[in-house]
Amino acid sequence: MNPTATHINYYFTCKRKLWLFSHNIKCEHESDFVKIGKIYHEDYDKEKIEIDNIKIDALRDGKVFELKKKNTAPKAAEFQVLYYLYVLKNHGTNTTGIIKYKENNRLQEVMLSEELEKELLEVLKNIELLCREDKPPEAKRIRYCKNCSYYELCFS
Ligand code: SF4
Repeated sequence: MNPTATHINYYFTCKRKLWLFSHNIKCEHESDFVKIGKIYHEDYDKEKIEIDNIKIDALRDGKVFELKKKNTAPKAAEFQVLYYLYVLKNHGTNTTGIIKYKENNRLQEVMLSEELEKELLEVLKNIELLCREDKPPEAKRIRYCKNCSYYELCFS
């Protein structure tokens, strides 16, 4: 399996969503939150860098640059950038990353330390195991449900 940034994000926000997504179960509904996020990212479309199965928003002074609308899932954002750094490292490029939060222009530095790399590898292994399960985890109401395209599927 070749995880994408979306797999990493769903691992930290909702494991049921990760399973549904990894089994190609799609819902038509797209929340306003997702639409706004896409509009913000359009600014960076020309700068996107694609390597293997990742798409980096841009490079700034040689650093990975990731734009986020809000700081709603900090661990997901951090591990998304750590994953980019890991893929780049495997291609012979050691660098660091910056997450910019559009809501307040806050910048967060991200570095792939030895310890975080170990944690990332554990996350990647867990993603693979979870996606291989026959059934998704049970639906539980969490803070991310209200903007989730799977809401009807989970709770109707
Ligand atoms: S609606 Fe909630 S429980 Fe269902 S997939 Fe989305 S976030 Fe997960």
